[in-house]
Amino acid sequence: MSEADDCLFCKIIAGQIPSSKVYEDDTTYAFYDINPKAKVHVLIVPKRHYANVAELAAADPAELAHIVEIAQRIADERFHGAYRLVFNTGLDAGQTVFHVHAHVLTGEVLDE
Ligand code: 5GP
Ligand code: ZN
Repeated sequence: MSEADDCLFCKIIAGQIPSSKVYEDDTTYAFYDINPKAKVHVLIVPKRHYANVAELAAADPAELAHIVEIAQRIADERFHGAYRLVFNTGLDAGQTVFHVHAHVLTGEVLDE
């Protein structure tokens, strides 16, 4: 059994758990966070399982750049290109799902 077999986001990507899709292509999936922290709160994930952003950056930097590009596009469409991009990394930084995900917070003026 691999790490990905018991991963919430792998199950969402596979369609085994429902989600509200924002964007999808061959390598990447984006969906609304179930507990939004901003007017628009989207999670962007690579379809391949990596535990965190450092693993993704080391293994597939082009995919990390692609995720940033998608975040920019979402913010361009929803809020004149302004957004906050967060990768919580490690339990003590608030990471609760160990499949790398970019939080895109946009759609309104954000507090500091
Ligand atoms: P983390 O705390 O790991 O940085 O972020 C995990 C995020 O996943 C949280 O913001 C949480 O609200 C979101 N989340 C957890 N379970 C689900 C789910 O089943 N569906 C969706 N759409 N989001 C989820
Ligand atoms: Zn996964």
